[in-house]
Amino acid sequence: MTIDFEGNVQLCCGTYDSRRFTLGKYLAVPLENLQRKKYAHDMCGRCMQRGVHVYGAYGGPDFDAIAERTIGPDNARLLRLTAERRRKRIRRSVEWLHRHTAAKCLSSEQSAWLASRYERVERVLLRTGRAIFRS
Ligand code: SF4
Repeated sequence: MTIDFEGNVQLCCGTYDSRRFTLGKYLAVPLENLQRKKYAHDMCGRCMQRGVHVYGAYGGPDFDAIAERTIGPDNARLLRLTAERRRKRIRRSVEWLHRHTAAKCLSSEQSAWLASRYERVERVLLRTGRAIFRS
């Protein structure tokens, strides 16, 4: 769930029409009621039936591959989809490596610090268009 600037709770960050997806004010409606409304919402039913919620939560590398195949290599290059897939793959590998090594001996604060450094390096690489993230 997300909260907008007026305190309205929306279904999630994947839905944008507040007229259709507002569940209530977060200070006025108990969390259990918001959750109940969300689970009963027809958009969530359709979304889960098609597996979109999994893509939203985990990134779904398989979906990216399907999208790339569907639009073809030229369009994938134009949209920098190949580079984006590479970036995500590297990130997943780094996260896996961290979970299986450093995370076992670092505190959560140290892990958060390390993650913020990684994000900074990734941003610099993206901004400068370094080869690692180029199509
Ligand atoms: S099920 Fe889909 S629409 Fe509903 S909250 Fe989750 S991601 Fe959003």
